Amino acid sequence: MEGTKRLDIAVAPFKVIEKEPFRRSILSGEGINRALELLENAYWFYSSILGHRAGKFTVIETPENYGGQAGKGYALVAGSSLRAEIPANLYHELAHLWNPRATPKAHLSRFFDEAFANYLTALAIKEIHGEEAFNRFIEGLRRNYEAVIERFPEAKKLRLSEWGRLGLWELSYTKGALILYEIHQRAGNAFYDVLRRLVEEESVDFERFRRIMKEVTGLEVTV
Ligand SMILES: [Zn+2]
Repeated sequence: MEGTKRLDIAVAPFKVIEKEPFRRSILSGEGINRALELLENAYWFYSSILGHRAGKFTVIETPENYGGQAGKGYALVAGSSLRAEIPANLYHELAHLWNPRATPKAHLSRFFDEAFANYLTALAIKEIHGEEAFNRFIEGLRRNYEAVIERFPEAKKLRLSEWGRLGLWELSYTKGALILYEIHQRAGNAFYDVLRRLVEEESVDFERFRRIMKEVTGLEVTV
């Protein structure tokens, strides 16, 4: 697999389906056409808003209860997850191909990878499955955020840039994605210009993010 030092070995009577940029190792043909089509739709959607990506994406189907594993450019997923009505976790892993490159310090918060991957997932759901499915996904993020706040009430008052230092990076999956949702609502289509700018940058941190937001949308965000 490209872009990773991991070496995962799976031995099974796989059927390998190659179609640029995908390499998919499948255990069963049942319901697979729809699953592969959804994955391709998500890929083309991300490409259309953020530009084409050179990287490959590998999907390996695993038997149920073997657990999953994913990283940049690959995902090992159970058959049920691959064939889910809305395969949100695959959209999420795929979205990582378009992450802004965060500085090591900014990376600790996981905002530039996990918040972005989750909000791009929400957008792919809206594009492919419609507005209602999108709203349900956003509601799910809200509920999960409230669950985090119950455990760490102090997290509510923190700035984005403090999450990493305090080890509260899990806020990026929920609150981080919700922040991007809010910015999108306020900025309208200029939000996509912000995303493209961030993806093109050599490296980003919170200050750079704040400046690009201001420059492109006129919005002042507190980081
Ligand atoms: Zn992720």
